[in-house]
Amino acid sequence: MTIGERYKEIKRRADEAAIRSGRKPADVKLVAVTKTHPASEINEAIEAGATDIGENRVQELLEKYDDVKSVRWHLIGHLQTNKVRQVIDRVVMIHSVDSLKLAREIDKRAAAAGIKMDVLIEINSAMEETKSGIAAADLKQLVTEITEECSSVRICGIMCIPPIAAEPEDSRPYFREAAELFEEMKSWELPPERFAPTELSMGMSGDFEVAIEEGATIVRVGSSIFGPRNYR
Ligand SMILES: *Cc1c(COP(=O)(O)O)cnc(C)c1O
Repeated sequence: MTIGERYKEIKRRADEAAIRSGRKPADVKLVAVTKTHPASEINEAIEAGATDIGENRVQELLEKYDDVKSVRWHLIGHLQTNKVRQVIDRVVMIHSVDSLKLAREIDKRAAAAGIKMDVLIEINSAMEETKSGIAAADLKQLVTEITEECSSVRICGIMCIPPIAAEPEDSRPYFREAAELFEEMKSWELPPERFAPTELSMGMSGDFEVAIEEGATIVRVGSSIFGPRNYR
């Protein structure tokens, strides 16, 4: 199968999972994760219908940016404060906010660019040392601090990456927990212009259908669309 055919196949499976979960296909956004893949391959996915793409690293995003057709870019990997300035006007959402310090820098750069930046807070579901993200128990405090201080940031929900799973079903308990946390967030009374929890970003190639069944509104799928990654 070509990249375009694989993209359409994954989209079809995501749409079916949305319907299974009692939602409309349009309620679940498929972000095609393009790390390690060249602009030409990304453009194949865009021609097949991809509207949103995700990159992990700022440097890689910048290298490809001008050669990729018009599309919405998402920054999904760990972001260092000194790289924020370079992506602030290129991405529609930053999925990986995990500190007040990072939120402050995004706020500063968004204000300077005259925009409001949509972000998600990254949750480290199993508290794995190798992963970034905060503990679920710390979410409310961080969200409260960011909404108090950062007028050019809008917190739109949470992102999580469960431990690597042998079977898609192994991820389900983590997804369910994240969905419960997301529901709880919706009851927090914070200024709506700074806090609008509508997005739950979870699920990758191996488990995106399970994630959708558990309530994901954004799934991030890479290798099932673009094939295996060769890290340079
Ligand atoms: C690479 C990556 C993905 C996609 O992973 P696949 O298993 O290739 O689908 C999703 N989310 C994040 C944060 C990633 O780094």
